[in-house]
Amino acid sequence: MQLTVFYSNHHYNFLRKIRTYNIIMYYEPELYFYNLEKPREFCNFCQTLLDSQRTYSHENRDDYGSPYYIIEIFEIFLCPSCDEVTLIYYYSFGNEDDDLNRNDENYELFRKYHRTVLHAPNKQFHHAIPQSIAEVTRQAQSVLFKSPRASFILCRAVLEEICNHFEIPSERINSKGYVNLNQRLNQLFEQEKMSKDLKDIIQGIRELGNEGAHSDHLTFTKQVNVEDAGNLLMLVNYVIERLYVDKYQQKTAEEALRRLKDKILKPAE
Ligand SMILES: [Zn+2]
Repeated sequence: MQLTVFYSNHHYNFLRKIRTYNIIMYYEPELYFYNLEKPREFCNFCQTLLDSQRTYSHENRDDYGSPYYIIEIFEIFLCPSCDEVTLIYYYSFGNEDDDLNRNDENYELFRKYHRTVLHAPNKQFHHAIPQSIAEVTRQAQSVLFKSPRASFILCRAVLEEICNHFEIPSERINSKGYVNLNQRLNQLFEQEKMSKDLKDIIQGIRELGNEGAHSDHLTFTKQVNVEDAGNLLMLVNYVIERLYVDKYQQKTAEEALRRLKDKILKPAE
């Protein structure tokens, strides 16, 4: 749902109120059956099911005869495992005229809420992921809600960090010219003998990140929302898991197998 849709639906007052909470609203938020699902939320840091600590909810109705209203819920969660706090904002637009004409007793149960994470702990990265790469990925996560564009640019920066980590030169030997990211990545693919599926995803992240870096700001902002930036970040996370965690686990498994075989299958001489 675009910002303009909210305006044309006379939601301006509600929108203005919401904007005071500094939430960027021009994206399609996730729809959520709050009353039915009684928030089952998970910790971003350790993936544990969160405990709801406190809920603030209120209905905001217009005094000037408009039938539109908004139900807002702020819920504070605590992680029973790592003690980190998560704050989530749920809101639902309603229309009193529609409510009067509705004969469905269960409507409130099935009321759809939008859901926005206002604060969550950073994702925990596997220790096999180099610190500089984890750091830039974390930054892409932390700016996600404030600027999808900044997040896109940082996702591209993660690829630069990956190239640095695999020691792909950023300058041409014997000349001053810089090597662009595309060329560095092609060298990386060859050096690490990457599979086609992984190459396609990495090239896709580069192309999308370039859009964030080079396209006109207003056009980009219209085109790209928080959800898109979240999906791009998901792809970045997938790539770093494949590159570092999978490799680490494969090596660990191979070593375990070798040790077991050495001990059990080779008879003592
Ligand atoms: Zn946790």
